[in-house]
Amino acid sequence: MPGSSVNNHYDLIIIGGGLAGASLACALKSAALEEPLKIAVVEAYELNTESQPSYDDRTIALSYGSRCIFDSMGVWPLLAEQAEAIDSIHISDRGHFGVTRLSSEQEGVEALGYVLENRNIGQQLYRVMHESADITLFCPAELKSLQQDFTHPEGRVSVDVMVDGSTQTLTAELLVAADGNNSQVMKVLNIGSSRKDYEQSALITNVTPGKKHENVAYERFTDSGPLAFLPMTQNRCSVVWTLSPEQADYLYALDEADFLAQLQQRFGYRLGRIKKIGMRHIYPLFLQSATQMVHGRVALIGNAAHSVHPVAGQGFNLALRDVALLSELIVEQRRKAADIGSLAMLQQYETQRDVDIKRVYRFTDALVRTFSNSIPPLAHMRSLGLFMVDILPDLKHQLAVQSMGLNAGKGGKLSRLGRGLPL
Ligand SMILES: Cc1cc2nc3c(=O)[nH]c(=O)nc-3n(C[C@H](O)[C@H](O)[C@H](O)COP(=O)(O)OP(=O)(O)OC[C@H]3O[C@@H](n4cnc5c(N)ncnc54)[C@H](O)[C@@H]3O)c2cc1C
Repeated sequence: MPGSSVNNHYDLIIIGGGLAGASLACALKSAALEEPLKIAVVEAYELNTESQPSYDDRTIALSYGSRCIFDSMGVWPLLAEQAEAIDSIHISDRGHFGVTRLSSEQEGVEALGYVLENRNIGQQLYRVMHESADITLFCPAELKSLQQDFTHPEGRVSVDVMVDGSTQTLTAELLVAADGNNSQVMKVLNIGSSRKDYEQSALITNVTPGKKHENVAYERFTDSGPLAFLPMTQNRCSVVWTLSPEQADYLYALDEADFLAQLQQRFGYRLGRIKKIGMRHIYPLFLQSATQMVHGRVALIGNAAHSVHPVAGQGFNLALRDVALLSELIVEQRRKAADIGSLAMLQQYETQRDVDIKRVYRFTDALVRTFSNSIPPLAHMRSLGLFMVDILPDLKHQLAVQSMGLNAGKGGKLSRLGRGLPL
């Protein structure tokens, strides 16, 4: 292959070292293999800096299932100290009677989930990658071109990446696109996507409330959109406020005191008077889905494959389940000395992920449509819905199982990592 050299050949190239790409590299590194996989991670931004777009000021509500995945990968001990447990979830509808509560005690688990700062997760994943002799980080580096050689007897994918102003050619058996919802890999391969713009933005910030949060996550549906307060370390709360883009811009521009007054009025006084507030950031919200997750020797994971509304905190959890299944299939192939980029294996990945991904699309999309609407009959219906969920234990359990990421769906199966087993 033109420009390639023996030294630049890897088993696997990951384009994008954000939360999903870095998690895949760390998962594969955790596998006990006679001959460890040689992995190249190509990332556009310096990973240990403030400007890294995937390891930013947001928080992740990590489901209990995702904690199991990180645990099986050996990464959880590095994250545990910075994680705040969610012991219960309180879901309510502002101005209406319906309320439901989910609790870890009722579900018989240590916690329903955990809240972590993206930046902290990123730092720990970066540390694991950086310390591994089998992972080579090309960073900052950018993908320039990609070719698949279908005539090569063993099959190859080759990329040109720009590192420090010069082009390097890397080759591998498998390439994973983890380069987010504006994926360059998808553009180069002409992979399409469907997109539904919610015409909503998420305004995020961190606050310190007057009362102890007692590890309760609040999801409050208001007439302007859902407002979540998630428990963080040092008695802080992560606020995710869904609004129309105009309202978000307006609130973003307010000075601190006026913004606090608006937030307090929307959320109420369950946590007392909000005392301190951090930086505000705005994210546009949409549902985006790639038309295919596999193309030749290329597989898509994370936001490149699917982006969902953050209303139920499912996006990264979904990405981690991509990581768990794909790493399991890659390791199985390696142990059989089989091709880790074989189309049959990648099609298995695509088929097995389909049920879970579609279920999460339906779940989040239905929540957005139902709870972003102030039309009176719908508002009463959802109050009734919350009330019914609260009094029907089976329904409530199903909602908790979905939120905890423990449901493999009809025909789906939980990955080894998700079941607490090593790769
Ligand atoms: C407001 C908000 C709140 C959220 N809350 C939650 C939550 O509570 N729970 C949850 O599970 N999920 C949540 N999510 C979703 C979560 O943030 C995403 O699922 C997650 O960031 C996806 O990670 P990713 O690595 O796939 O993509 P990204 O985070 O977009 O990372 C892509 C990476 O690829 C790199 N890259 C891009 N192009 C190139 C290129 N050409 N060459 C090299 N590198 C490239 C980028 O620099 C970046 O590092 C939330 C999202 C939003 C917007």
